[in-house]
Amino acid sequence: MDAEWRRYCGSRWQGIDEQERRGFGHIPGIRESFRFCQRKLGSKDEAVFEQLSAHCSTQKDPKAELDFKQQGNARFKAKDYIQAVALYSKGLRHSSTQSPQAAVLYANRSAALYHLQRYQECLADIRRAQEHNYPRELEHKILARHASCLHHLGVPDGAYDKRSRGNLSDGGGQGPCSTALPSIQTHSESQDPPSARGKASAVPGEVSPSIALHSDTSRGRHMIATEELRPGEVLIQEEAFAAVLIPEEGRRESLPNEDLHCHHCLGQAELSLPCLSCSFSSYCSELCRHHAWQQYHWLECRLGGLLLALGTFAHLALRTVLVAGMQEVERAQRLGSGSDWWPSEEQSKREDPKHTIGQAGCSGTERFSGASGGMPRDGLSRYQTIHSLLTHMEQQKPKHRFLCGFTAAAVCCEIKRRGLELQMVSEELETQSAQGQRLSILGEALLRHMLQLECNAQAITVVRDTASATCSVAGVGNSHVAEMEQVRIATAFYSGVSLLNHSCHPNTSITFRNTSINVRASQRIPAGQEVLHCYGPHWSRMSVKERQRALSLQYFFQCRCTACVSEENKEAGMDSLVCQFLCSRCGVTLQDSEEAHCTCSNSCCGHMVSKQSLIQQVQEIRSQMGNARGLSAGHPDEAFRLLSKCQRVAQNLLSSHHPVQGEIEDCLAQVYASQADWTAAARHLGMSCDLVRIQFGDRSVELGKQLFKLAQILFNGHVVDEALSVIEQAECLLSLHCGAEHEMMIELSEMKSCLQTLPSQFPVSP
Ligand SMILES: [Zn+2]
Ligand SMILES: [Zn+2]
Ligand SMILES: [Zn+2]
Ligand SMILES: [Zn+2]
Repeated sequence: MDAEWRRYCGSRWQGIDEQERRGFGHIPGIRESFRFCQRKLGSKDEAVFEQLSAHCSTQKDPKAELDFKQQGNARFKAKDYIQAVALYSKGLRHSSTQSPQAAVLYANRSAALYHLQRYQECLADIRRAQEHNYPRELEHKILARHASCLHHLGVPDGAYDKRSRGNLSDGGGQGPCSTALPSIQTHSESQDPPSARGKASAVPGEVSPSIALHSDTSRGRHMIATEELRPGEVLIQEEAFAAVLIPEEGRRESLPNEDLHCHHCLGQAELSLPCLSCSFSSYCSELCRHHAWQQYHWLECRLGGLLLALGTFAHLALRTVLVAGMQEVERAQRLGSGSDWWPSEEQSKREDPKHTIGQAGCSGTERFSGASGGMPRDGLSRYQTIHSLLTHMEQQKPKHRFLCGFTAAAVCCEIKRRGLELQMVSEELETQSAQGQRLSILGEALLRHMLQLECNAQAITVVRDTASATCSVAGVGNSHVAEMEQVRIATAFYSGVSLLNHSCHPNTSITFRNTSINVRASQRIPAGQEVLHCYGPHWSRMSVKERQRALSLQYFFQCRCTACVSEENKEAGMDSLVCQFLCSRCGVTLQDSEEAHCTCSNSCCGHMVSKQSLIQQVQEIRSQMGNARGLSAGHPDEAFRLLSKCQRVAQNLLSSHHPVQGEIEDCLAQVYASQADWTAAARHLGMSCDLVRIQFGDRSVELGKQLFKLAQILFNGHVVDEALSVIEQAECLLSLHCGAEHEMMIELSEMKSCLQTLPSQFPVSP
């Protein structure tokens, strides 16, 4: 939820008199909770919605269009083509469908792409410029560029020319962007990513026949291996039921999420196609734009600013309803009615331990069937599975329930105010439910999903090569080594994965490809063992106390996983992070305590330090490392100076195996690599690998990623034998966690085949 909106809801909650607030605390049902919030919503609130929407406006603005164009032109003149492309793309989001400016922006972007030698993309933009009626008197310019592109691509002039002219005459008459509903032009969209092409026919999910859905009182629904699972075996492959991109505008220096990814399939979409009606959404292809519009964007587009102001959970709740369709939502509510504390499935299960989910004839163990489209064969559709996820109504604080309910009421209110209510409902539903009921069906569903998201939202992450992003934005050529950062780009609902229980030491790994998730066995899982994944608190990153706290606060359960049990019994596990700090007086490690302070473990010293100050000092080191990275290309000496200062501070502050020590080594390797000093880079990266091994373990994905970087450096340094051996180790780990198709795996295999053609004692070249 967005901070400003949260504050406003909080003040509204405080404004309600205490007796009424207490009464709300005792309302048992979702429907009643929603109605309470709806009644609290008045015309004064509507004025606030309007303000908030205006603040995050998604309307197209001709002034912004012109502004971005001029900024783009300035960057183009300065030969900063990457920034120019980004700025032209931003301008295009503000182009209205009939704008002659759009044609100019596409043409200018094509020029920048030409200079970046991205000829295919340049050709696509030239086509778009033509489709937007690029001025005849200037057309010779883009035609000349068109011919040069073909020359560079080695395509005989005649062949391509015919095709593109054919398109021109096809599209010329209708003006493809003149209709409200985007037209699909797959025939001319040659660079659609595979994800976008496969999207329409994609199977929603596949679950391996080797795992089965069980349910019992203590664990709820969960997954069990029915036969032994091999490490690396794919267990679940599933498309998100609904996913919403997390906007980052203003929170990042480089390109934010919304400029890098398709708002429908989340694929790479740097050269995005904007929505025809708003300035926010943009897509990787005409096909994605069309699907998004058909499924949900027709409505979201008109609520634009408000959804951004209310935050991602409200947005995802609404999208889930729109993707499912109101008819399906109404059906799910009818089936589940009468038990709002728990959806009926969960309730009956709790009351009767022997109860088995689903239709007659099912045993307690149900196999998933790939043939039924990956749907759990427990009689529930994908939406019903989501609808039946726990809301934890009884544990959520009344204030939180009010925030969600009030947000749901705000969305309903805005839909009604804009007269969009009728369009949401099919005729069949219209006859079944009375007029006023439609909005309460919607409101109830929104509140339910928002409550569920607290515990069931799945973050979609990508590994972003941040080094090349920052370097290229600064216009300083290409980086030699990937600097990988796990970035959260979207929040999603998955019906199958949401059935997996948590462990702080899970036996699976997850990876994402656009909106689809892959769950793999990360170790051998014997038949009968539960398949578990980690909700966030992982044994290698948090102490048992910290994990238990986080899990019970957010997920309302006491973790009894193997890691927690053995750590509580002090058999194993990592020290609390505090124990990895050193006393500034005597250099002995500090001791954790329940208070805000911790004390030196050396009883003769007894020095006390505030935990807050320790955290701040670590943050300071990390921020200095960030600065050093930024300086590595242009001012390496300055970067080295900063890093040796970091090392000195870390040496006195942190134990030798604190994660930050490894991060500093990694950063040093990065700067040496930018100077093409591969020997030094490899030495430092080797040390960071050792620390990652200590922190995350021998078979961790983190070690795999670090070895991947080391392989790149050894490859660049032509250290053939060592590179081959590191590649082999990296492949072994990454194939297990990420699968053979992962981009890192592909790069490793390319490096390997290249190295195998070289003599093994190749001289180390600078
Ligand atoms: Zn897409
Ligand atoms: Zn739109
Ligand atoms: Zn645990
Ligand atoms: Zn001390």
